[in-house]
Amino acid sequence: MNKIATPIPEDLIRKMFRRFTEEEIIPRAREMDEANEFPRWMFEKVARTGAYGIRYSPRVGGGGGNTTQFCVMVEELARGSMSVAAFTAMQCLMGTNFLYEYGTPDHHERLFKPAIRGEKVASFALTEADAATDLAGVKTIARQDGDEWIINGSKTWITNAPCADFFTVLCQTDKSKGLRGLNFFLIERGTPGLYVSKKFDKLGTRATEISELAFTDVRVPFENRLGKEGQGVSNLMRMLGVIRAMTAALSLGLARAAYEHAARYAMERTQFGKKIGSFQLVQQKIANMATEIWASQLMVYKVTEMIDRGERPLKEASMAKYFASEVACRAADEATRVFGAYSYSMEYDVQRFYRDCRFLLFGGGTSEILQTIISRECGVF
Ligand SMILES: Cc1cc2nc3c(=O)[nH]c(=O)nc-3n(C[C@H](O)[C@H](O)[C@H](O)COP(=O)(O)OP(=O)(O)OC[C@H]3O[C@@H](n4cnc5c(N)ncnc54)[C@H](O)[C@@H]3O)c2cc1C
Repeated sequence: MNKIATPIPEDLIRKMFRRFTEEEIIPRAREMDEANEFPRWMFEKVARTGAYGIRYSPRVGGGGGNTTQFCVMVEELARGSMSVAAFTAMQCLMGTNFLYEYGTPDHHERLFKPAIRGEKVASFALTEADAATDLAGVKTIARQDGDEWIINGSKTWITNAPCADFFTVLCQTDKSKGLRGLNFFLIERGTPGLYVSKKFDKLGTRATEISELAFTDVRVPFENRLGKEGQGVSNLMRMLGVIRAMTAALSLGLARAAYEHAARYAMERTQFGKKIGSFQLVQQKIANMATEIWASQLMVYKVTEMIDRGERPLKEASMAKYFASEVACRAADEATRVFGAYSYSMEYDVQRFYRDCRFLLFGGGTSEILQTIISRECGVF
């Protein structure tokens, strides 16, 4: 997919999504956060930009973009609202990719194509109560029964679950095989035995909805196993570099927003008869934010360049995601210090950046796991 000629150049994508973010997202970001629910109207507005199909082939109605263009887009969206960027990323990548790669023509017509047009909401379910970082602990079971699969188990922390039309769900088909016994299955909303819990109340990304899923004797057709038997995890691993680059790009967008707010406020707020930006300790914060953001940018787009060349940069993608997400958290923290008491007011956006940035620490691997991978790739394990 990354080798397809790109009809839209990257700088045009940046210009287009920067403008969309400034005109459509930033003016409504606080309202969406306060409403604490999935803004279907915004989901549909984003769909009209062609965002959800950006990484897919024009053959299936996509934009034919590469990973760099996809990451540029989510970075720009995240500068306006992490929630909007997060549900867009889910729709573009994790929620639809297995259907695109391994779905039947019927799945493509009924689910995948409507999803990239923004007519159906997609969701991706790996995590369980006792299996999060350690996917080998997945207990949701899919058992073959004639030409059907019967699925039993549960998932938790599933983005979009309350509003999704279909789910890509990681299940165990043969426990004795460990990770090689894991496979992805397509389950459509409304399938008997599928139960969606009420949505979680959470700290940040409040315009995304998250809940648990429970499966009791859920029957799906044989062709709903997405991919060859036993290849679920290896297929996921092939996507992991893109997932990490994308999470790093989301981090970059949030860090830029925090930095821009802090830099502006430093030149507006006056104390001791001077702009607070004239104090060296405030300047130090701005300088550190700007420097770390630049370093994140270089890392993120070096990794996407490698992916677009067909490489699988495990170490570099882990480094970029680890570094950029920590930078986003530091930038959000420093921005609250520049704003002082006003960062504690719900009327200023920095409190939202401070809450939303925590989400970046978990998706695509926690910092601790990424550090473990980086160290292992450096030969120290
Ligand atoms: C906002 C949000 C949205 C999410 N959306 C989805 C979704 O759509 N689909 C989905 O499947 N999941 C989703 N998740 C779940 C997410 O993928 C998990 O949070 C993530 O896998 C980490 O799991 P955990 O938080 O339970 O941490 P755990 O795995 O329980 O880890 C807890 C702590 O222990 C550390 N730790 C664990 N193992 C090791 C080790 N071997 N070495 C060192 N440290 C270790 C971790 O780094 C962490 O600090 C979402 C989570 C959030 C917060």
